[in-house]
Amino acid sequence: MTTRGAPGIRGRLGELCYSSGLLHSLQRVRAWWQRDLRILAYHRVMPLPDPDAYEFDLELISTPPAEFREQMLRIKRYFRPMRLTDIVAALDAGEALPPDTVAVTFDDGYDDNYRIAAPILDEVGVPATFFVSTGHIDSGRPYAYDWLVHMILLTRAERLVLPELGIDIALPPVRAQRRRIAGNVLLRMKWLDAFGQSAMIARLEAEWDMPSAQARPVDCRPMTWAQAREMESAGLEFGSHGVHHRMLARLPQDEMVREIRESKATLDRELRNPAILMSYPVGGDRAYNDAVVDATRNAGFQLACSYVCGTNAEPSENRYSLYRLPVESNMGPGWFAAMLALPQLMSYPTAAHEATGPAVQPCSP
Ligand SMILES: [Zn+2]
Repeated sequence: MTTRGAPGIRGRLGELCYSSGLLHSLQRVRAWWQRDLRILAYHRVMPLPDPDAYEFDLELISTPPAEFREQMLRIKRYFRPMRLTDIVAALDAGEALPPDTVAVTFDDGYDDNYRIAAPILDEVGVPATFFVSTGHIDSGRPYAYDWLVHMILLTRAERLVLPELGIDIALPPVRAQRRRIAGNVLLRMKWLDAFGQSAMIARLEAEWDMPSAQARPVDCRPMTWAQAREMESAGLEFGSHGVHHRMLARLPQDEMVREIRESKATLDRELRNPAILMSYPVGGDRAYNDAVVDATRNAGFQLACSYVCGTNAEPSENRYSLYRLPVESNMGPGWFAAMLALPQLMSYPTAAHEATGPAVQPCSP
């Protein structure tokens, strides 16, 4: 997970560039020599809750509604927002993308994407792609990582014992401290295989008597298929984010292929347009590998996004592992604007080149 809170050097530099009024000129100069595709990655758009009262993962909140609207207005004004399917068509035709092309994407499929983000996108006139985990939309069950955070925040157990991660610690009463522990668990568990992750969460659900199966918490709810269809009718796009939101590269081959194919079959059945877009669940460059890319292509997907930070200088060369720019809730308007205008300088460090272990895995929800 990223370390949120104070914006740090990038944030301050971004605000400085922004307030200097030079940002757009710098962007214009940059566009002369760099025509890279920028893809923004969001999760949830919702008002920032009181951390002491909120029972789920704060890190999944990408931006509050008013800021999101400002961000979309900026994209509309200074960039060329484009649908990913139109980008696929341009790549197929061998056409260069226009300068300053930006695609807006969302991962997971939370219902705030329908309630809050979609009306703003419609109002401003910016297209977007929603990568959804089809199993969660089918079942309505909360997302596993979010539920894990929920359990660690609320359990009455006095200790957190996770031998598979080498964790055996007392659980403090203060929620902020528990949040830090939960963040650490999320980070470490991504080094387990996907079944190991599921088994660990299932064991905690049983031990702590906090089953997610029937839970329908209002703050952690997937959208429904009816909502997805309504969004699709309004011109928004959908893609696969797997069935169960598992790390595809950490599944046995047959399970990995099944996740990819089943998610496509479900999307093709539930929605009008065939699913040709994919985003690999869970962050970083360990979430996918050559076998995952092959299975994605063979299943009929025509483009896929990773959660590795960066822009795409030649998207035809990495159209099954496109880099994205994650939007985080601690980005002020200046930092966001600077990240879009000068992404190499102002985005979070690129995980692909720096990921040597859990301590540096900057893009991981
Ligand atoms: Zn996800």
